[in-house]
Amino acid sequence: MADTLKERITRHIELSGLLPLAEYMHWCMADRDFGYYNSANVLGRQGDFITAPEVSQMFGEMLAIWAIQAWKNLGSPNTVNLVELGPGRGTMMSDILRTAKVADAFSQAISVTLVETSPKLKQIQEKTLEEYENITWCKSLSDIWDLPTILFANEFLDVIPFRQYVKHNGKWPENCVGLSDTRELSWVLGASFIDEQSLPAGHKNEPEGSVFEVSTAREAFVEKASDLIRKNTGAALFLDYGHAQSGFGDTFQAIKGHEYTNPLSAPGLCDLTSHVDFEALSKTATEKGLYVHPLLTQGEFLLGLGLAERAGALGQDKSEEVQSRLRSEAERLVMPEQMGNLFKAFAISTFPELVPFSKEG
Ligand code: SAH
Repeated sequence: MADTLKERITRHIELSGLLPLAEYMHWCMADRDFGYYNSANVLGRQGDFITAPEVSQMFGEMLAIWAIQAWKNLGSPNTVNLVELGPGRGTMMSDILRTAKVADAFSQAISVTLVETSPKLKQIQEKTLEEYENITWCKSLSDIWDLPTILFANEFLDVIPFRQYVKHNGKWPENCVGLSDTRELSWVLGASFIDEQSLPAGHKNEPEGSVFEVSTAREAFVEKASDLIRKNTGAALFLDYGHAQSGFGDTFQAIKGHEYTNPLSAPGLCDLTSHVDFEALSKTATEKGLYVHPLLTQGEFLLGLGLAERAGALGQDKSEEVQSRLRSEAERLVMPEQMGNLFKAFAISTFPELVPFSKEG
């Protein structure tokens, strides 16, 4: 009998009972045999979805400008960690390293570490970055050297598992994956409940069926990044889609071949994500005593770093076709109805001024 992840999950539920959403998601994404990120070609035009670095080289270029400024604010140290969490195909780091060459001293100072758990994607990253020496890979933030650190992550937190609680008879039980009468994966409310103290204000007024999402695993990444930069000085930047204030709503989504699909229909074969709760992350970093910068939209962040000027410079003396491609790439990244508003830039640092979050930086 051909084994599939769906079959394995089904048998597991039959033997051990309901699977909380977070465990289901972890299994779908990270299973060594069938996990989504261990299968080829998930990202890019041929893959299931396109991320900002895959839209345009200008995205990584703006990140390089941000990193160079942060390094200057750190006093231009001779050695600095440049860390990326979940680098995908390695495109963003490749654009950053190419751009970094304009600042020779920065280029000399950086020691690059990529944090990646998928062996398949690590292979792709090695290929993308083959012209660069001294790049280290590791699987966890605990393995980063103690040096001043500049860290970033694009569309990383949204893939980290989260939990859902659903209002039912005035209480908030956890949303789990169970089986229907016909042995199909289906949503079932579990026997554990979230403590009402952990719910945002106004939960009493929420209607039955309302959903609250929480991700302690995402908070743990921000906590670890905070510890790392607090110990060594530095800055960290997380770009992702999500909301500025904790609230209610079901944001679990599955993408296959650039289309939304049912998250239970094809475990391990589609990208599973949810919106990031930036208020929760902000609280985590504040408790660690860091400067937490006002959340910017991706549009504000990129335009503040000079994306429009860069598009103009790249297009100068080029054909109408190239100029129009650059224009549409820039629009896709910053226009409010495209990626500009939904995606946010969340930054924390051990120093107060950070471009473009505060202009004085
Ligand atoms: N940042 C890239 C890719 C986003 S996809 C881009 O913008 O194109 C998410 C990435 O995070 C993949 O590289 C995936 O393998 C990696 N990843 C997922 N869970 C991880 C974890 N727990 N630790 C490190 N990397 C992880």
